[in-house]
Amino acid sequence: MLNENSHQAQLVPLPALSDNYIWLLHRNGHAIVVDPGEAAPVEAALAESGLTLDAILLTHHHADHVGGVLALRAHTGATVYGPAGETLPVCDHRLREGDTVSLANLGITLSILDVPGHTAGHIAYHGEIDPGKPIVFCGDTLFAAGCGRLFEGTPAQMAESLGKLAALPADTLVCCAHEYTLANLRWALQVEPDNAATRARWDDSQALRARNLPTVPSTIHLELRTNPFLRTTQENVIAAAAAHSGTPASSPVAVFAHLREWKNNFKQPSR
Ligand code: ZN
Ligand code: FE
Repeated sequence: MLNENSHQAQLVPLPALSDNYIWLLHRNGHAIVVDPGEAAPVEAALAESGLTLDAILLTHHHADHVGGVLALRAHTGATVYGPAGETLPVCDHRLREGDTVSLANLGITLSILDVPGHTAGHIAYHGEIDPGKPIVFCGDTLFAAGCGRLFEGTPAQMAESLGKLAALPADTLVCCAHEYTLANLRWALQVEPDNAATRARWDDSQALRARNLPTVPSTIHLELRTNPFLRTTQENVIAAAAAHSGTPASSPVAVFAHLREWKNNFKQPSR
């Protein structure tokens, strides 16, 4: 795709499986993908835009994130990066916090954060895709107005992991791996019915989904204003968590644990 903007990195969420996004990032004919739960949508996108797949980045071991990695690697020869602490179908470079991934053909270097909680070895990749354009690929750790379930971690671990993501620059593009936004916002509005930013986000997200468009990427700034899991020191969130659980929380981690439990049990209206 040679055009006057071909020097700018292009970021595309590829819908996959039932509600996953596989993030595709490309520049000047070279591409990477993050968490390919299946190969077909990636191969279609590569063919359509004439892209060479240089690398596959994995955030954690769940099948909806790694299901396509063997086929993609076999068909493209792409290098596979993934978390050091997890069992994966294939991995050429095992990463942990402090490591970096140099994507030479895209001119992008990404840094690794350990973000355990959803799984024990979950990692996130962050960096700048263009000067002044920060990004994070956070898998199933931070979602739009939500966070991943605690399958292999404690509330304290997840709260710390979310804290690392929340500390990234406010304009960081948040590239999460699922379209869960409306369901998360329905719950967030129960926690914070008077949060005008959450209400506005609900309206914006509904309009996008009505046109079958992605609600992501988000930004850290928007998550800080609307995601209850990043707002565990706000008085109204503390009060809502205490009222719902029937127990006052003595710390931000305890507030987080109440919120996670509340969200786990939140019944979405049947459609
Ligand atoms: Zn997962
Ligand atoms: Fe997932």
